[in-house]
Amino acid sequence: MQTTHDQAGGSRVAVVGAGVVGMATALALQQHGLSVTVLDPQGPGEGTSSGNAGFIAAELIDPLSTPAMLRQAPRLWLDPHGAVAMPLRYLPRLLPWLARFIAAARPAQVTRGRQALAALNGAAVAAWRRCLAAIGAEEELVASGYLLVWESERGRAEARRHMEHMRRWGHEVEWLEAEQIRAREPGLSDRLSHGLFFPGGHQVRDPLVLVRRLAQAFEAGGGEFRRARVEGLAATPQGVALQTSQGNLAFDQAVVAAGAWSHHLAAGLGLEVPLETERGYHLTLPERGQALRQPVGSAERRCVMTPMSCGLRVVGFTELGGLALPPDKRRYASLRRHACRLLADATGLEASTEWMGFRPTLPDSLPVIDTHPDHPSIHFAFGHQHLGLTQAAITAELVGALVKGEAPALDLAPYRVTRFQRT
Ligand SMILES: Cc1cc2nc3c(=O)[nH]c(=O)nc-3n(C[C@H](O)[C@H](O)[C@H](O)COP(=O)(O)OP(=O)(O)OC[C@H]3O[C@@H](n4cnc5c(N)ncnc54)[C@H](O)[C@@H]3O)c2cc1C
Repeated sequence: MQTTHDQAGGSRVAVVGAGVVGMATALALQQHGLSVTVLDPQGPGEGTSSGNAGFIAAELIDPLSTPAMLRQAPRLWLDPHGAVAMPLRYLPRLLPWLARFIAAARPAQVTRGRQALAALNGAAVAAWRRCLAAIGAEEELVASGYLLVWESERGRAEARRHMEHMRRWGHEVEWLEAEQIRAREPGLSDRLSHGLFFPGGHQVRDPLVLVRRLAQAFEAGGGEFRRARVEGLAATPQGVALQTSQGNLAFDQAVVAAGAWSHHLAAGLGLEVPLETERGYHLTLPERGQALRQPVGSAERRCVMTPMSCGLRVVGFTELGGLALPPDKRRYASLRRHACRLLADATGLEASTEWMGFRPTLPDSLPVIDTHPDHPSIHFAFGHQHLGLTQAAITAELVGALVKGEAPALDLAPYRVTRFQRT
């Protein structure tokens, strides 16, 4: 076996996966003085982390499974343009996860989940600031604010409830009537009824560029990136052995940050983790990066439009269709339809690029941030659902503490890797 133990005797750490979570983690570990190798068959950020809405969604503190969501789900599923899709071909494989997802809507569990998401989200922006300041890339994070809009008068009660809920959780929120929306965001259609503005909202300029900048800083700091797939990990008396598409490698510690594929690696380590993927879609309109002033969410259509340096991005859909099915082209047509209704000027939609990616989601909507219960050399950082960009930098700091054997800044009990284990 080729060994990559550090000649100088320092701790050598492998990070499996070069998405936003893996790259932020690799950088944090390097800043702790560790010698870090990142392994991924794709380039940094080229998976799901490339195509997200670029929104630091700190106010998304509700778990995905709540009684209200379960009540709405059939309508969202049956509407051909609705936000939830469950391809019938995949349904038999999905059922065990779905059962756990529905069970997670129990009020006590929702309350615990909300607290655990709020803890991570509340620390997210400050962690991103620290991460980006350390590499001189502060300009990648923009204090943009966030606008959430409703088209229908019927949505007033829902918007009021949401505003009160957000304020209870410490978020600054302003109520906007139609004319105030027009003043704040002239790029939107005049068919809107009302909205909520979150002055504290942040976005990134371009999520792929962001991860590439993390990777550049990592490599400039002496970090190694290997284009290799990790087939399996095993704890050894010296640390951890990795079987990879480039042969076997040995490290002192490893972090599994392989997004929606992480459960396969966890299974090889004796851990059952019910990770599913919520496939999400986007359009990017390359010439329309100035079409909006800030990210805009549609509460009714459940899509988000974000102005980015690469263009205007329109994202949406939760398609519970696994990792293997091809993208469903109908989703792009639905996103075009949503954008047409929401934008004042829908020029550029026909020239938009299309993309689909895999959100890694556990039934309780919380990520795994933990160390293997039996193998202290193996750590996990995955399952960040709709919030992987938001939570990557704080996750990286927490994993840094785990790898160094220090006390993490947050209580990590809610994010345990064993929480789904049937004993
Ligand atoms: C349409 C859409 C919009 C979104 N919008 C937002 C948003 O606005 N804000 C937000 O916070 N989040 C958003 N998200 C979610 C966010 O993008 C994800 O949570 C995040 O990208 C997950 O990052 P990751 O690093 O865990 O996974 P990934 O980016 O998927 O990276 C995992 C990496 O692991 C690699 N890998 C897999 N298996 C192996 C293996 N065996 N060996 C080596 N490498 C392996 C893959 O090649 C990949 O590069 C959105 C997601 C989608 C789909």
